[in-house]
Amino acid sequence: MTRQTDVVVIGGGQAGLAAGYHLRRQGVDFVILDAQTTPGGAWQHAWDSLHLFSPAAYSSLPGRPMPVQVGEVYPGAGHVVEYLAAYEQRYHLPVVRPVRARGVHRDGAFLRVESDSGTWRAQAVISATGTWWRPFLPAVPGRADFAGRQLHTVEYRSPAHFAGQRVVVVGGGNSGAQIAADLACNTELTWVTQRPPRFLADDIDGRALFDVATARRRALESGQTDTGGVASLGDIVAVPPVRAARDAGLLKAQPMFTRLTPDGVEWADGTRAEAHAVIWCTGFRPALSHLAPLGLRGPRGHIPTLGTRSVAEPRLHLLGYGDWTGSASATLIGVGHPAREAAQQSAALVR
Ligand code: FAD
Repeated sequence: MTRQTDVVVIGGGQAGLAAGYHLRRQGVDFVILDAQTTPGGAWQHAWDSLHLFSPAAYSSLPGRPMPVQVGEVYPGAGHVVEYLAAYEQRYHLPVVRPVRARGVHRDGAFLRVESDSGTWRAQAVISATGTWWRPFLPAVPGRADFAGRQLHTVEYRSPAHFAGQRVVVVGGGNSGAQIAADLACNTELTWVTQRPPRFLADDIDGRALFDVATARRRALESGQTDTGGVASLGDIVAVPPVRAARDAGLLKAQPMFTRLTPDGVEWADGTRAEAHAVIWCTGFRPALSHLAPLGLRGPRGHIPTLGTRSVAEPRLHLLGYGDWTGSASATLIGVGHPAREAAQQSAALVR
């Protein structure tokens, strides 16, 4: 059966919901298809101790501020899941679950979305499928020979699963630093980063990052020079557990090893560290396989965009994947602005 609507949003995480909020205001007919069985997008799969790096007031989607989590300055992932579930109810967002979009195709004046639960035709599609679903692991020699456990950030849950073990954590971003801090007290930890870790100043959290990202967007929009964005400040937000582990001297990073051996890792000078487990906190790629039939893939697996709109297929918007689809668009507070742009431009095609 083929259903007809004005706009199909693919993905019901925070980006898809923000798009829904603005589409509702535009007065168009739309549906949000989400592959998960329950609300919350990637947040429902986060590790147990994950907390936001911004207070609730700086972690809100358009229209409805995130309530403060009692007893916490930085809300936990479970609190975000509750907020997103309440958000979609509050705005009666038409999320259909679980529905996985398999392919988006050109179909005359329409785009056709084929899914595991039928087909939708629409004048515009907003893709908001996130990155969590495409973990990236670097090609390191010996990876297949390592006899211990290898897992990615997406599979890590709690230090209880590694108590007393020798664990190598790879990655100098926020995930790597937070998971290393999580494991520092009850494992024999080796933390490995490609370059020396760059901690942001202790008084800088997501609030300041958002302000810097906003200043950059405004500068670029008004034709001024690029202010450099948040990357110029450092990589790791010193959230309280990271700060505590670092200050206790438990977060000393080693340079990247050159290969894995059957029982651990080895550096270029022959130094070795034994390991029961290697946790790859090495990032993500955008989950875009459902867009493959449109043939839009550009450099680095990205689809070239102008704002959120695909350059080669103007009926398609990409939302929430990172700065290439809008400054800070992969954050709760930052996705509102590009979501409005995607909704307005999609609605303009309908009228
Ligand atoms: P997701 O939450 O991944 O939602 C996408 C949805 O689309 C999912 O429900 C998925 O199942 C669905 N989907 C995927 N493919 C399909 C398909 N083919 N068909 C249908 N549905 C599909 N941001 C902050 O603002 N503050 C923070 O403190 C913060 N900390 C972070 C910490 C970590 C470790 C990580 C990884 C990210 C953090 N972020 C933070 C960034 C960001 O807020 C999250 O990555 C967020 O989950 C992105 O939301 P999204 O809606 O784009 O994607």
